[in-house]
Formats: sequence, C-alpha cells, structure tokens
Amino acid sequence: MSTRLWHPFSDMAAVDGHEFVVDRGEGPWVFDEAGQRYLDGCASLWYANIGHGRQELAEVAMAQMGKLEAYSCFADIANRPALELADRLAGLAPVDDAKVFFGSGGADAIDTAVKLARGYWQARGEHQRVHVVSRETGYHGTHGYGTSITGIPPNREGWGVLAGENTVAPLHDLDGVEKVFAEVGPERIAAFVIEPVTGAGGVHLPVEGYIEGVAELCRRHGVLLIIDAVIAGFGRLGTWFGIERFGVRPDMITFAKGVTSGYLPLGGVIAAGDVAAPWWTTPGERTLRHGPTYSGHPTACAVGLATLDIYEREGLIPRGQELENPLFEALAPLTSHPYVHEVRAGFGFLAAVELEQDVLDGVPDAPNVLLRAVRKAGVLVRGLGKGVAVSPPLVVGQEEIDLLARAIRSGLEDLP
Ligand code: PLP
Repeated sequence: MSTRLWHPFSDMAAVDGHEFVVDRGEGPWVFDEAGQRYLDGCASLWYANIGHGRQELAEVAMAQMGKLEAYSCFADIANRPALELADRLAGLAPVDDAKVFFGSGGADAIDTAVKLARGYWQARGEHQRVHVVSRETGYHGTHGYGTSITGIPPNREGWGVLAGENTVAPLHDLDGVEKVFAEVGPERIAAFVIEPVTGAGGVHLPVEGYIEGVAELCRRHGVLLIIDAVIAGFGRLGTWFGIERFGVRPDMITFAKGVTSGYLPLGGVIAAGDVAAPWWTTPGERTLRHGPTYSGHPTACAVGLATLDIYEREGLIPRGQELENPLFEALAPLTSHPYVHEVRAGFGFLAAVELEQDVLDGVPDAPNVLLRAVRKAGVLVRGLGKGVAVSPPLVVGQEEIDLLARAIRSGLEDLP
C-alpha cells in the first residue's frame, strides 16, 4: 500500500511501500514491529544520547502537561521550566553573560543565530555587516539560512535564489579562511558559523589549530563566532557544548537534539550578553521582532531539565570523550577493507566509514545499500554522501561498540 508519509531526505519513489517501521526503544536498542532488536548505532539522528525508553521522562512530560502543557513566552509571559532551563544552560555554556533563546530544533536555532548576528550589527550602525561565512561540509539544517550557508552543495542546489550573502570557506585550511575574509572584506562579515566537528557533512574531525585559528581571526576582525553545537553538544564530544575542547568562548552557540535527547523537540541559541545587549539594555528602545510560537515551551523545557539531570546523575557528558578511543580502535581495522577509503574517528563519540570511489561509482546509492546491509546485521547506522556515519547513544559499552564494528564489516561483505 502506498504511504502518505513524506519522509525527509529520502527518495520517496524508492521508499514508498518499503518503510522500515521502528516500534519501540530501550536504552541503546530499538525494535521493529516484528520485535526484531537493533543496536541504535547512530542515536537516531545524532540525538538519542541518553538512550531510548526512559519512563522518567515520560512522567516528567505527563506531569507538566497535566499542569500546564504549553503557554507562549511572548512579551512578559514566562513559565518556570523555561526560566530554569535557561539558567541551567547559561551556567553550563562557555559564553560570557549568556542569554538563552528557545526554539524547537536546530534549523530554527541557526536562523535565529544568524538573524541575531545581523540585527546586532544593524543596531550598532555597521549596516554593511550582512555577509555570513560558513565552511565546507557544514550542515546547519534546512530552513532558510541553514540552506543558504550549508557547505554541502546538494543541499543548496535546486531552490533558486537563496537568502542572504554568504561564502563557504575551506574545510581545514586556515589560510583559505583568511583569503575568504580578505576577498569579502572583513568589515562586511557579520558572523562565521561552524560546527566543531562536522556531522552530517561527513564527520570531519578538527585539524590542529583550525577552530582556534578561526576564533582568533573572528576576534581580530570583530566577526561574531557562532558555534553550531547541535550535534557536538550534550556529551557527543565529551563536554556540554563540544567547543570547550578547543578553549574557545564563542559569541553564540546553537543547540538542539541532545538537550532533550529527542524526547521532545527543543533547540535554541545561547548568546553572549554583548550580542543580546541591543535588545536588553534600554526599555522602549528595541523589540526583537523574531520568535516562534513554541519558544520556551514548558513541557519541552521540563523534559530538557530532566534530561540534564540524567546526564549529570549518570556521568554521561564525559562519556563522549572516554569512548572516542574504543570507537576508533574498533573501526580502524576496517581501513584495510578493499571497499573502504577512510575511517574518520578518534575525536568524540562519532565516526564515518567512507567508501572507495570505485564502489561509489559502481553501486548505485552505495551508502544506503551499505546501511541496509548493516541493518541486516542488527545495527542501525546513517548513510552519508560517501559512506555511513555512527554516533551511538552515550550509554553503550565495549560490547556494543564491537557489535557495531562487526556489523559494518558484515555489511561491507554483503555489498554487491
Ligand atoms: N545544525 C547541525 C550541526 C545539525 O546537525 C542539524 C541537524 O542534524 C541542524 C543544525 C538542524 O537541526 P534540526 O534538524 O533539528 O532542524
């Protein structure tokens, strides 16, 4: 029977009638409707950091819904979970005098951050600062700005003219970034947007000095630095926001995914007090004419608070760093497989296995063929442009990491 459900990022003509229906989850495992168990090797879409099926969070959501399911935070209205979660996140983030703006996911966090950067410069009279720089392989969601600034060309193509003036800088080449700044004119650049480790763009690990160098370049030219921690945050790199590992204090951080571990949709921007100042300093001077209906949604924020409690209580945040070497060691032997071009792992609890070009040329849609072969071996991974990515929940141990590596090897053996 034909489906009515239009899946994101999918070839519906191929998917229609062949859906893989996930039915329930428990810790790092999920089960299909026939009761078959799979290791969630990718934390769903890089978010199920605390694992699935936590009744505690269902109870928190139920209690909050029973009391006040939702109420908008426009103008002077607030709710206690949103106030408390903003305080908690502001206290954890490496951002000076932080203010927290909530939305419902990563893409709207990016749109908010870029608009705040542009509004900040307009308010300060630097009207020419509208240009946004991002970097190759960067994925920043699929809303207006995220589509404009993405460093993944197929995500930008096919939409006609996009929002804003943007340039994509080279992935690992700091001199190349300086060149972009010089070509655009640093006085015209509003912000640089960057993931500490690119996720959806292929899991590209940081090269020595690049992020720190970008931060220094931004500081030198007064460009606002926006760290997209939508994947990197909440333990994935072993810290709260990923960027702590580089000793950098950005002007804004975008977050989503792990803040609730996906139990409810939530995301937002943590902005430095200086960035927020044009809208916070003098009553009557300026209203922020931006914000979604569900900003500060009390049930989502209550679940966010309870998720942070779990991270702290179970010591899950450092796990992303503790597990990076075990993951590297389990996957590194795949490098010698004739179909494998490269394994990228060893910084944070995420990795990519990239296929050789002749496999990509010879097997139509090879990454998705591989992920289905790995699924047959009992593990869910995510297809990327040139291979598969893994980013298991932070609750797994060595046994699950070994299973993951075995299943990828078995999937490679199954490739036509
Ligand atoms: N930014 C990054 C780094 C992401 O990985 C994603 C999603 O994967 C987004 C932004 C967009 O988040 P969402 O899909 O919640 O809109």
